[in-house]
Amino acid sequence: MFMIVLIDMDGVIADFEQGVIDGLRRFYSEVPIIPKRERKIFHVDEQYPREYQPLVRSVYQLPGFYRNLKPIVGSLEALADLEKNHDIRICTSPLTVYHNCVLEKYEWVENNLGESWVKRIMLMKDKTLANGDILIDDKPNITGSISPSWEHILYSAPYNQEIKNRRRLNWHNYNNVIKI
Ligand SMILES: [Mg+2]
Repeated sequence: MFMIVLIDMDGVIADFEQGVIDGLRRFYSEVPIIPKRERKIFHVDEQYPREYQPLVRSVYQLPGFYRNLKPIVGSLEALADLEKNHDIRICTSPLTVYHNCVLEKYEWVENNLGESWVKRIMLMKDKTLANGDILIDDKPNITGSISPSWEHILYSAPYNQEIKNRRRLNWHNYNNVIKI
């Protein structure tokens, strides 16, 4: 069945978590890294001790952070696969400190998916206002002004394991969860 599929960017197709780890190692080696598998809180800065939180935030506000994020393994292939039968949109919420983030999200899409995908970007703080059949997103709970039209399918991550009442997937098993 044809669907409008909204796909989140950070933590779903762009490896934000690895970017933070790499940035901390490079710029703030005094910060003890929290490994990916031990991540329990969605907002990464909030899981670090208070004295390190400004450093963590500064990593993802640095120029080049978003542009240089690695694709999540399997994501680009999955998008190409889903795109054959569905209308795919990249639905991403930019940082409020937008100065590097907004431009670099566009650059990331062009560099990793190609120019035609730039037209598929939807930048929005409130994803409930987007129309679609499903939203694939790693954020545990997505709230906004209205009751959304889409079903939120969780992109499974260590920090959203407490959510039990939603379908979840990753790029290795998505075929079993959504029909191509
Ligand atoms: Mg995300």
